[in-house]
Amino acid sequence: MQDLIVQKYGGSSVANVERIKRVAGRIIETKKKGKKVVVVVSAMGDTTDDLIDLAQKINEHPPSREMDMLLATGEQVSISLLAIAIQSMGHDVVSLTGAQCGIVTSNVHKRARINEIKTNRIEKELEAGKIVIVAGFQGINENKDITTLGRGGSDTSAVAVAAALEAELCEIYTDVDGVYTADPRIVKTASKIDEISYEEVLEMASTGAKVLHPRSVEMAEKFKVPLVVRSSYNYNEGTIIKEDVIMEKVLVRGVSLDENIAKISIFEVPDQPGIAFKLFSALAKSNIHVDMIVQNVNRTAVNDISFTIDVDELQEAVSVAQKFAFEVNAQKVEYDQGVAKLSVIGTGIVANAEIASKFFEALFELGINIQTISTSEIKISCLIDKERGKEAMVHIHKKFDM
Ligand code: ASP
Ligand code: MG
Repeated sequence: MQDLIVQKYGGSSVANVERIKRVAGRIIETKKKGKKVVVVVSAMGDTTDDLIDLAQKINEHPPSREMDMLLATGEQVSISLLAIAIQSMGHDVVSLTGAQCGIVTSNVHKRARINEIKTNRIEKELEAGKIVIVAGFQGINENKDITTLGRGGSDTSAVAVAAALEAELCEIYTDVDGVYTADPRIVKTASKIDEISYEEVLEMASTGAKVLHPRSVEMAEKFKVPLVVRSSYNYNEGTIIKEDVIMEKVLVRGVSLDENIAKISIFEVPDQPGIAFKLFSALAKSNIHVDMIVQNVNRTAVNDISFTIDVDELQEAVSVAQKFAFEVNAQKVEYDQGVAKLSVIGTGIVANAEIASKFFEALFELGINIQTISTSEIKISCLIDKERGKEAMVHIHKKFDM
C-alpha cells in the first residue's frame, strides 16, 4: 500500500499517561505528513511481567492457554488508551485486537507463529481515513483461541502487518537510539550502528541483544520489509536494517550476551545411532527451541549430551529430557541456570580465523573457562559462567575496538 507507515511502540514508550500522549502526538505528526499510519503497541511498561507474577501466585505452572488469555489483556489496555489519546487530539482512530485485525497464528500457545493476516479490516479502516492501532504480541488460532507470540513479540506483529500491507517502512520505536555494538547499559563505550544487515541483526537478536524479537527480523528479511529502529524520545536517525550493507574493515559488528538461558545435561546416554534423533525430536515436538548442543566423547559405550535452551522453557525441557533418559536408560539429568552465552557477530567473521582466536584470548585474559563453543558464518558464541558475563562482554568490546 502506497504511503503507508507501520510504527511500533514498545512498552516503555507507552508506560504512563504522559508517554501515551507524547506517542499519540508523534503518530499524528506522521499522519499529517500525508501518510497512512498503522501503529502496533506493546503492553504498558512492566504489565506483562506483572500479569505473569499474578498468575504464578495462583499456580506456579499455569496452563498456557489461560496465560495467553491473560497476557493479551496487557495490549488491549495500551491500544485503547492510545486510541483515546489520539481521538482527544482530534483525529480519527480505531484500535483493534489481534483477532479483530485477522492475525491468524499456529495453535501453539505462548509462542505461536503468525500464519496469515487477513488485512481487509485494517484496509477498510485506513480507507476511511483512520489511524489504526493494532495490539501487538497477539493473534487468534483456528479454534478462535487467543494466542501470543513469545516475549517481545510485538516487533513480529509490526513486521508482519508491514509485510502483509506492503508498507513503505516499518519503524520500531524503543527507548534507545537504535542498534548498538553492545548493550549500552553494560558497555558504556558501545556505539550506535547506522546501518546493519538483516542477517547480522538477526544473529544479534538471537544471541541475546535485546534489540528486536528474532522472528521479526527473519520475517523482515523474508518479505524485504525496510526496518528502522529508533528512539521515541528524540528525533535522531536510528539504525536502518536492510539487505546489503557495505562494510569496509569492520569485521565484528557487535557483541551480545544472553543471560536468559539454561543448560541441560544428560549423563551416560547409550552410544547408539538414533539416540540424538530421539531426544531432539521429542524436544521439537514440545516446541522447545534448542540452541547449543554438545556430545562428549567418552570412549565407552555411553556419552554425555548437553544442550542449551531458553530459561523460560526449562521446566518443559527438563521433563522431556527426564522422560528420554528413563526410556534409554541414561544415568541422570541435570540442569544449570548459571550460564550465559557470549557472542561476537559480523559478516567478516567467516573469512577471518583471527577473530575466533582473539575472542578466546580475551576470555583467557580474564581467566574465564569456556564450556561450549558454537560458530556460524557470521557468529562465534561461547557458553561461560553467567557471573562473569558482563565483565567478559566489556572486555571483548574493547579488545575488538568496536
Ligand atoms: N508485552 C509483551 C512482552 O512484554 C510483548 C512485547 O512487549 O513485545 O513480552
Ligand atoms: Mg513488553
